[in-house]
Amino acid sequence: MPEHREAQAGYHRYHIPTRPAPDIEKWPSRFKVKVRRTGLAKLLLSEVFHYRGRKDVILSRPCMYGVFSGPVGGFMPREEHCVGCLRCTTEFPEFVRIEHNPERQKLGDSYFTFNYVDQIAYEASSGLVPVRGAGYRGKFGGEGWDGMWTDMSEIVRPTRDGIHGRETISTVVDIGYTPNFLQFDAAGQPTGSLPHYISIQLPILFEGGDLAREGHVARIYARTAAELDTLAVLPFDQAIGLGEYAHAVVPVVRPQDAPRLSQLGFAPRVVEMHGWDDALYTTITAAFPEAIIALRTGFEDAAALVGYARRGIKVFHLLADYHGRSQDGRFVLDLIREAHTAFVEAGIREEVTLLGSGGMIAAEHMPKAMICGLDAVAVDTPLLVALQARFNGECAGRDASHFSLPSNLNEAWGVQRLKNLAASWRDQLLEILGAMGLREVRRLRGEMGRAMFMKTLEADAFAGLLGYTEAN
Ligand code: SF4
Repeated sequence: MPEHREAQAGYHRYHIPTRPAPDIEKWPSRFKVKVRRTGLAKLLLSEVFHYRGRKDVILSRPCMYGVFSGPVGGFMPREEHCVGCLRCTTEFPEFVRIEHNPERQKLGDSYFTFNYVDQIAYEASSGLVPVRGAGYRGKFGGEGWDGMWTDMSEIVRPTRDGIHGRETISTVVDIGYTPNFLQFDAAGQPTGSLPHYISIQLPILFEGGDLAREGHVARIYARTAAELDTLAVLPFDQAIGLGEYAHAVVPVVRPQDAPRLSQLGFAPRVVEMHGWDDALYTTITAAFPEAIIALRTGFEDAAALVGYARRGIKVFHLLADYHGRSQDGRFVLDLIREAHTAFVEAGIREEVTLLGSGGMIAAEHMPKAMICGLDAVAVDTPLLVALQARFNGECAGRDASHFSLPSNLNEAWGVQRLKNLAASWRDQLLEILGAMGLREVRRLRGEMGRAMFMKTLEADAFAGLLGYTEAN
């Protein structure tokens, strides 16, 4: 619908405003540009004659991105401009070589590799969808998320074409409780359990955890979540004082916080209880009678989750470590399916909401996690990378000490980076939904018919053949 007609109809299509938000801390360049000076000097000499001294043309060669256009040209290449297109080395292999910068490769860790860091940095600085012009040249299968493929081969309605579709694709998700059936008395009034949920515009929540204890991080998360109409999950102490973003803040309450719940200063729409605790549950219910209470716990015991649901918990925030592993070493992809299946088998999947965190570090992991059974993803480490945090070694455990934030981190910049990241991830989600012909993201949850698993396909094709061993 054109904008003026939308306004007349009182309708507003959800949109995330993006703006360039370049890095505030200088990161090592992606590529090292190695130039043999004699070769370059010969080229320049011949070009001076050929282009009759036209300095702008000569200095733009052989790179249109300005790598060789500094004050001394290619004798001191401006590596930060290199996009790795390889034109220079293709044209002049005798004196130009492009290599990955080992310093850049040190950003991230063994799970959040520098390729993911690069991707997040691009998404957060531009708000755009990363495009690999030469096509994807990587592997088509692997471990973890790479062992799952999505099936988009269904016939797709042409109007439903992702980001630019004429027909809106909704990314709204509901957090809370919806009963399997509504019941009414003789007077037509509803009886029994009634729905109790809130709707947010994105299946992306911001998971602060201990990481939000640093600097302005909690405020940046809360403000961005409020402006995007989603939620930021923050430790109780960090949530205090964020009343202006009350509708977007989800405080995480531990037993030691129980005596001072009134200090929060506002009535949150959702509260997370850190681990099951009868007394704490009663206290939170009394303090915030309107709030939806979510249980924050590990993925490990799917059967226990069903038990908690029977005791009144309808929203679960399930946590794996930052490498997507449970305490017993299983990967989050399998853990989500296990939790989802447990509720399906108990006949109450429609009644509960499953949120998940840990190991979901790229836009494509979000739809995959939802297909496996999550309602929404509470994103953790990618937010920090978007804020240019550096990894201090390996960071699997949920511990803030694994990260260092830039010393000049400021709120306005941080908010824009997170908005850009959310916009980029949402656009990529819309592309996937469009390709699957889905009109809303809620239909994606548990849609296992869209998933293919490398392990299963390989077993179907090769089991029984000499040399075949089943992947883990
Ligand atoms: S690889 Fe491409 S961007 Fe990098 S220096 Fe060469 S021509 Fe320029």
